[in-house]
Amino acid sequence: MAEALRAGGNPSSVHASGRRARAIVDKARREVATLAGAEPSEIVFTSGGTEANNLALSGAGRRRVLISAVEHDSVRRAVPQAEVLPVDGEGVLDLAALERALAASAEPVVVSVMLANNETGVLQPIAEVVRLARRAGALVHCDAVQGAGKVPVGLRDLGVDYLSLSAHKIGGPTGVGALVVRKGAPLTAALCGGGQESNRRAGTENVAGISGFGAAAVLAAPGQDLAALRDGLELSLVQIVPAARAFGAGARRLSNTSCVPMPGVPAETQVLALDLAGVCISAGAACSSGKVQRSPVLEAMGVPAADADCAVRISLGWNSGSADIERLIAAWQNLYIRVRQSDIFHTDSRARAA
Ligand code: PLP
Repeated sequence: MAEALRAGGNPSSVHASGRRARAIVDKARREVATLAGAEPSEIVFTSGGTEANNLALSGAGRRRVLISAVEHDSVRRAVPQAEVLPVDGEGVLDLAALERALAASAEPVVVSVMLANNETGVLQPIAEVVRLARRAGALVHCDAVQGAGKVPVGLRDLGVDYLSLSAHKIGGPTGVGALVVRKGAPLTAALCGGGQESNRRAGTENVAGISGFGAAAVLAAPGQDLAALRDGLELSLVQIVPAARAFGAGARRLSNTSCVPMPGVPAETQVLALDLAGVCISAGAACSSGKVQRSPVLEAMGVPAADADCAVRISLGWNSGSADIERLIAAWQNLYIRVRQSDIFHTDSRARAA
């Protein structure tokens, strides 16, 4: 990325500086295509996963859209008119509901189901979704932003038409991502201007960001299994707080994600206490204002609001080790002991009981 920034240049310029920038973008395109099991020409660079999701859903050209109830805001808000399909108590899509919705109308439809949930890590049955969708002639979009680097995200292996990726979820820079568009799948550009990205996304490319995305894609091949570490962590948390079973634990999940409640203790309190101990975790669905909103994902899973408000998301990274886990457990336990002795817990427990 530093080299790309130093080199400068606009990939659309024909002079030497432009050609160097073009070569950087082309290399990254091949690298991201390899991660996505796609042709380089099927990669459309975007400003991130949000834009990729918006582009897929507006660009597929289908007015009727079916989404799962646990999609990221960038899917749910991109298509407020979408029909929302329920999930079960573990957060897994109700395939029978999808089948019924597909059969309910002959109108052309696009189905959008994520690969892995950003709050619980729960994996969706994409192969089944594709099988049902194909029978009904539907297009399929998959938000693979959270799955990339942890489970395979091959466009053709998954069998989908559109796949969203985000660089910062695989250790790359923020503000860059891609929509992978299967050759032959329709796509109308959302941003109009120059003819960049083969007329699919106008605007001079973020050359440094794209080169960082490419480098991260090379390093992001799935394979690291953090499940042993994660399972040990979850076991310790349940030993401290018996009600702290991870949401979605009964489903297939990413090996690095736990969404765990500390009943009676607001998620924000947990986040702040662990931050003071040097541990970075998140509360519910992080949103841009830094404020926390109640998680629609947990709500869709039927988790009572009081429990959802006390749930935190713990994500292990490629560099997390047992020392980090021990620090987290100690901080969590300290907080629980302190809070139980304080007013917050009792006030909150009373509110929950009410
Ligand atoms: N989709 C999922 C599942 C995500 O978790 C995120 C980000 O958290 C996004 C989409 C949005 O990606 P970006 O932050 O690159 O816009």
